Amino acid sequence: MTSVSTHFALDHEEALIFDIGDTKRSGVDLPSPAAHKSRLGNAARTAEIGLPGLSEPEAVRHYTRLSRKNYAIDMGVFPLGSCTMKHNPRLNEKMARLPGFADIHPLQPMSTVQGALELMELLAHWLTTLTGMPAVALSPKAGAHGELCGLMAIRAAHEARGDARKVVLVPESAHGTNPATAALCGYEVKSIPANARGRVDVEALKAALSPDVAALMLTNPNTCGLFENEILTIAKAVHDVGAYFYCDGANFNAIVGRVRPGDLGVDAMHINLHKTFSTPHGGGGPGSGPVVLSAALQSFAPLPYVVRDGEQLRLVEQRDAAAQNFGRLSAFHGQMGMFVRALAYMMSHGANGLRRVAEDAVLNANYVLASLKDVMSASFEGPCMHEALFDDRFLKDTGVSTLDFAKAMIDAGYHPMTMYFPLVVHGALLIEPTESESKASLDTFIADLRELALAAKAGDVERFTAAPTRAPRRRLDETQAARKPVLRWEKQA
Ligand SMILES: *Cc1c(COP(=O)(O)O)cnc(C)c1O
Repeated sequence: MTSVSTHFALDHEEALIFDIGDTKRSGVDLPSPAAHKSRLGNAARTAEIGLPGLSEPEAVRHYTRLSRKNYAIDMGVFPLGSCTMKHNPRLNEKMARLPGFADIHPLQPMSTVQGALELMELLAHWLTTLTGMPAVALSPKAGAHGELCGLMAIRAAHEARGDARKVVLVPESAHGTNPATAALCGYEVKSIPANARGRVDVEALKAALSPDVAALMLTNPNTCGLFENEILTIAKAVHDVGAYFYCDGANFNAIVGRVRPGDLGVDAMHINLHKTFSTPHGGGGPGSGPVVLSAALQSFAPLPYVVRDGEQLRLVEQRDAAAQNFGRLSAFHGQMGMFVRALAYMMSHGANGLRRVAEDAVLNANYVLASLKDVMSASFEGPCMHEALFDDRFLKDTGVSTLDFAKAMIDAGYHPMTMYFPLVVHGALLIEPTESESKASLDTFIADLRELALAAKAGDVERFTAAPTRAPRRRLDETQAARKPVLRWEKQA
């Protein structure tokens, strides 16, 4: 069946905005600007820039149609391991839209933004209390940015002692951002293998520690969804050679309210507000990755930070002569909207509620693990933390790969889990349900995955290798956009 409109049932094909728009059209009638003298002189633009114009209903339809081709946490289970796709409470959104938070400018006089500064001070209080660490840098804008902040503070601390170390140790099970951050910071990255239990091989770690090691970057709970239960031994061994212990705390949602990283010997740790504290993420949206710092690193925290002079709050924006910090990490103070959402989440749960968050996240993941391990292959013995790791042994000799299995999940109405990560196991399938799924939604999800696993074993290969057949797109070429980027748009005839 063909249709002139290219619409089929509820699926509307959508062209690029450049193809449907027109430079002559506009959704609003703006008055002509008043005559003014340009300060740009010869640098001022004179030609039209040619942005496509749409009427308001056309613009609304364009973006609504695009959004319907996508999957979101507001549509169903989004089990993307390591990403913590939990529900974003609407209360947080309401708070973030209050004009006193949403309509302020970072260059406004301090006296007019006292409420916003107080919110930052309160958020810092919650983060340092929950982690048992004395200081926090709020400005990093994502988890990876927080890693950079932590390593720059660590480097500043070593340099302040005149000790330029060159190596950062990163376990095999680390998130890819860890070795990338260390390399970006100019460090040589050395990998530490995992043991048969999916944890860091402590003997291999000890053998790699030397006076040239600046830091260890360890993820805990790690990317296999397991708690590093030798962490105290690890912290001591790292400190014994004068190195710092960086903890990737992106998975803090599994332990918040139960474990304080400060008690484990951690020197620096980023917290993804967009994971643990439910601020929206995905599609490259804004994140926020505050970094908590130990007493040893506290004075190396970047600018700016909030200080209190009696009743008045202000941001310290300049380095003074005695400062040891490395300056600024970004232009302003961080993602205000994310601060508001995260604090709203913390305060609406309270201390007990946050503990329940971690407990329920772990319970849900173990429910998935226990309900699927007879039909899918669990990678490690015993219970998990916030995510359940499977590998592709259950697909052996079926002709179905991890990728095929994930694509068939799309036909079943789910965003796939994280695939082929962590690298510690073959053909990984990493499922993180989070605490916000009900038992009913988990039961449906589990039943669908069981059905898929049994279908693969029963030899229904075609269903998997052809998938997805019910999505707006079939399989895309995964590398073409990088290998042959089309950077200049030309109107289709
Ligand atoms: C998500 C994640 C990161 C990176 O966080 P971004 O905000 O995406 O930069 C780092 N480490 C782990 C373990 C993560 O899960």
